[in-house]
Amino acid sequence: MKFQCSACGLRINAKHFKQMGLINPKLTSICDLCIQRGEAPENFANIAVKVFAQCLLFTFVGKDEDSDSPTFLIAKNDVRKRYEAFIQDYDGNELAQQQLSAHDFNQAVIDSETGQTDFVPSSEFTFAENLSKLGLNVDFKLNEVDYIDRERIRAKYHYRCQYCGRRGRSVDHKDPVSLSHNNDFDNLILSCTECNRIKSNMPYKLFVSLNNEIPEVNRKLVKYEDALATLKGEFEERRRELAAKMHLKGVVNDPELDQIRKQNKKLQDAIDSLESDYNDLRSLREQHFMTGWKLAQVNEKEDII
Ligand SMILES: [Zn+2]
Ligand SMILES: [Zn+2]
Repeated sequence: MKFQCSACGLRINAKHFKQMGLINPKLTSICDLCIQRGEAPENFANIAVKVFAQCLLFTFVGKDEDSDSPTFLIAKNDVRKRYEAFIQDYDGNELAQQQLSAHDFNQAVIDSETGQTDFVPSSEFTFAENLSKLGLNVDFKLNEVDYIDRERIRAKYHYRCQYCGRRGRSVDHKDPVSLSHNNDFDNLILSCTECNRIKSNMPYKLFVSLNNEIPEVNRKLVKYEDALATLKGEFEERRRELAAKMHLKGVVNDPELDQIRKQNKKLQDAIDSLESDYNDLRSLREQHFMTGWKLAQVNEKEDII
């Protein structure tokens, strides 16, 4: 959930408004960036934060009465949107948070807003580019594995994805956000492009536990993949035969050729329907992971509630 800061006007994650108090947590009328730049929450009202604080039994730090028509420190709506997107990128990026403290990140945003640095983050650039244009360095390519090691890992696992069992060539780290620079073989694993994409930045343990819930689905996917490869090979073979016979007979219309064409068409239809079942199962499996991840995030989300 998000609040709007009464000082700068940014709409950002509610955690930017939460501070730990001695007994109860506190919610502030302005965001942590504004506190860092020296604004005092006591000087600003914020009805939304205040009501939430009362409801959650948190202390509210801010003015009681709402003053009329606030003028925000970041006056322009489109400029605010750019900072909001940039801050949201940081809030959602574990690698960035590990390498860059919230204090340093906030300071770079403040310096940008106040014109100390001559750049405003923009959606034209990637998160990494926006960071580096603000003079912040985050290494997003940690733990690159060299070519030889990749080949050794592929051979070790016989070119099979260690999650679903299908053919795979993607060598990656079990834990993608590990800062360990750990290129030990124990930390490297082989996966198919599909599992690799689904796993993406999902925590390794979560991915594995969700994967362990569906062994039958994975077994079926392996069978589908193998069957499709065999059938497609067979179909190719028959197509080549037909072409060779056509060449030999020198005619296009011929009862024998028509018979082969009919058979090939039936085979192609069967392959198509098998492929469609295969794709349905793949997309169901992907949904299983995405749902599992979303539910896990709901449980772990750094929210004020
Ligand atoms: Zn603010
Ligand atoms: Zn896989």
